[in-house]
Amino acid sequence: MKHTLLLLTLLTLGSLSAQKRYQPHLQALESKAAEYGEVAQTIWSYAELGYQEEQSSALLQSTLESEGFTIEKGVAGIPTAFLATFGSGGPTVGILAEYDALPGLSQKAVPYKISNDGRGGHACGHHLFGTASTAAAIAVKNYLKKSGKKGTIKLFGCPAEEGGSGKVYMTRAGLFDDLDVALHWHADSKNSAGIRPALANKSAKFRFYGIAAHAAGAPEMGRSALDAVEAMNTMVNMMREHVTDDTRIHYVITRGGEAPNVVPDFAEVYYYSRHSTRDEVIRVFDRIVDAARGAALGTGTTMEYEMIGGTHELLYVPSLQKRMHQNLSRIGGYSYTPEEKAFAEEISKTLNRKLNTEFIEGVVPYETPEKPGGSTDVGDVSFAVPTAGMRAATWVPGTPAHSWQAVAAGGTSIGEKGMMVAAKTLALTAMQLMDDAAFRAQIKKEFIETRGAEFNYIPLLGDREPALDYRN
Ligand SMILES: [Zn+2]
Ligand SMILES: [Zn+2]
Repeated sequence: MKHTLLLLTLLTLGSLSAQKRYQPHLQALESKAAEYGEVAQTIWSYAELGYQEEQSSALLQSTLESEGFTIEKGVAGIPTAFLATFGSGGPTVGILAEYDALPGLSQKAVPYKISNDGRGGHACGHHLFGTASTAAAIAVKNYLKKSGKKGTIKLFGCPAEEGGSGKVYMTRAGLFDDLDVALHWHADSKNSAGIRPALANKSAKFRFYGIAAHAAGAPEMGRSALDAVEAMNTMVNMMREHVTDDTRIHYVITRGGEAPNVVPDFAEVYYYSRHSTRDEVIRVFDRIVDAARGAALGTGTTMEYEMIGGTHELLYVPSLQKRMHQNLSRIGGYSYTPEEKAFAEEISKTLNRKLNTEFIEGVVPYETPEKPGGSTDVGDVSFAVPTAGMRAATWVPGTPAHSWQAVAAGGTSIGEKGMMVAAKTLALTAMQLMDDAAFRAQIKKEFIETRGAEFNYIPLLGDREPALDYRN
């Protein structure tokens, strides 16, 4: 009993001195908030779409290069993907960074909607994601340098998260295989690090080819590719009654003909199918392909489809996730200045809700159940190495992702403050991982148990090359 007490005391003292060790590095990180805020706002203003993030990727690369990281550009056959490395030997901790924007969501940093100019916008906060992860990697580098410890920190520049499945190609190329752990985060309207499932996903563009003809003068000569798209959509919409719970299917018609008096000889529909397990996604997707085949047959057209994206569901490692939550709670939230509060009040009105800053200042309790928040290509990484993520309050409470309100807040100091919460939480977690071999072993054990030792990685998008032109 006495021994246990002594051991506990020593452990507590040990961890106390460790916490003291990290504190100056977290303070140094915080002292660079304005600098990182500028990086994030520059990427926000670029608002480059998936696989077109030349300037955003270059800015993060130069930021890391000037801090002594070695840069490998164009990894996994993707020009805007990169890998920044500092240090040598194990342990090796990776941090993921994203920086792609969404099409058609441009918005100024104001609390009212402006008319859209058709450009992209950072409606998922990936400008903050990329910058905070970069900031965290630099802080961990400084820790390694100062302490003289062995270890490697890697920052992964991951393009085209929004539908482009950038990380899937990076996983397929084995880029994450030598990591002990990979950390990530996401922009959100609250601070949280509990378990939030992500859906597996398979997406494709279905293209139908018909025969053009005068729609009034010679309709019998024509075969409408648009009819095929409509027939396919009708069948898939009927299919919705006969799918498992949790299934999500959505589409947009990306080409539907040019003029009503011309029978369209080309039409295209872009589909997503999702489910909480990848096996069910594969089954649902195959049925969607059958509907496309049936539609082509019935309308006298031909069909081909191109796989665009495919991601695994997200795997959680309980003890690592819990640690992320503890660290987020230790870093804590932030409070609004009067100007930020006024901005948040205005945004809240557009969301039809009363402003509640509980989880801006604080952190959502770990056990709070969370609905799946869509899909992420981090899913594939999470089957390659143990991963953990968190969400930081970069948006006004209640703001959904992919909204103009998200773009707006992300362009203000609210976004920057949330970003620093994430940067510090990731840095703290990564420094602890560098120091704690027993913890790393525990994580690895849990990871293998959850994933299965016999797991064999099969990318849902198959062996296709990166869809570099999917936003063209
Ligand atoms: Zn998104
Ligand atoms: Zn996102």
